[in-house]
Amino acid sequence: VDQEIDTLQRACAADPSIVSLAGGLPACQLFPKAKIAASASRAVRRDGDRALQYDWPEGREGLREWISRRLAARGASVSKDDVIITSGAQQALSIAAHLLLGSAGGEPHRRASEGGVALDAETYPGALDIFKARGAVADDARRARCAYVMPAMSNPRGQVMSPAERAGLLSWAAQTGGAILEDDAYAELVFDGEPPAPLLAQDREHVFHVGTFSKTLCPGLRVGWLVMPPKMRALALERKRLVDLQTNGLTQSILEDFLAHDDFGQRLAAARRYYAQGAEALARALRRHLPEAEFNEPKGGFSIWVKLPGTGVDAELLAEAARHGVSFDPGSMFRVRSVARSESPIELRLSYSNEPPRKLDDGVRRLAAAWRGLARHRAH
Ligand code: PMP
Repeated sequence: VDQEIDTLQRACAADPSIVSLAGGLPACQLFPKAKIAASASRAVRRDGDRALQYDWPEGREGLREWISRRLAARGASVSKDDVIITSGAQQALSIAAHLLLGSAGGEPHRRASEGGVALDAETYPGALDIFKARGAVADDARRARCAYVMPAMSNPRGQVMSPAERAGLLSWAAQTGGAILEDDAYAELVFDGEPPAPLLAQDREHVFHVGTFSKTLCPGLRVGWLVMPPKMRALALERKRLVDLQTNGLTQSILEDFLAHDDFGQRLAAARRYYAQGAEALARALRRHLPEAEFNEPKGGFSIWVKLPGTGVDAELLAEAARHGVSFDPGSMFRVRSVARSESPIELRLSYSNEPPRKLDDGVRRLAAAWRGLARHRAH
């Protein structure tokens, strides 16, 4: 994490007058607070001995069953025993990276020169940090031993992998024995139709599949999952036990109760509608206030990836934006070679997920003023 950017973003997040197009946080309006409170109360009263006791590292059976049923409905025939409950998708990524690439900061089992991870040009910063900490970002994608991908819905671009790319990736794994780390975090938040089948449905030997309740329900529970190739299960469980023994048992119990009482399909439909409206409002605001911006409308998820003409310095634009009352995520956060302080093309991730649609227009108006102000200033 670039310290200057981090400091600016923390200051922006703490200031309620700033319109936040940063962070990619889910909408608090969608958190089912009363229902979670009821589930929490039931979990402690009816299931307290289990919920508050130590549990096995793989996590609660009922939750694993629920997740395997959902994956099966999307065409992946996995059983509850293939699923490990993790502390968010982040821990699932970290466990998979450990198995595939060795420990962070230590001597990777397999050095990056022997492979490493192939990534999209822009990718999820939390995963990027995991790979960078292992010195395992592949210089040459053709020689990678692992590919980190978000086929159903990418972050930051909000796009879907094409059938040709999916087929190419699967045949690369089959031919080279390379692993595919499939991050399905935003899959269920597609705007039109249903999410595509996960790559897991087509390959159980090479695919490590990661999912989460953070985007569809709420991140505070910290519940995600990992499905690994069957021969890696014992190693994955060993790693899970080593890092934290088990995922928080109380939140697992709350979630299991919640899912038993909730219409999750209906919840997803409402979330998709809400975020689709946000995406539309943000795109409209961009066309209105920043017609120079280039972007593809997202197919789902929380954000729009935007390119502005010319070049600039990420940290400068962010500081100027903060002065104008708006924040965003600079493009350098999503790239292997972060250049927060050097001149580069201006790309930004703008999230529509965490402000009500009516504030998005104002946010983009402020951003446009900041960008124009900076351009004028630099011209002198
Ligand atoms: N993957 C992607 C693509 C994400 O955007 C995020 C959260 N920003 C995560 C994984 C981690 O999610 P969590 O740990 O909250 O489940």
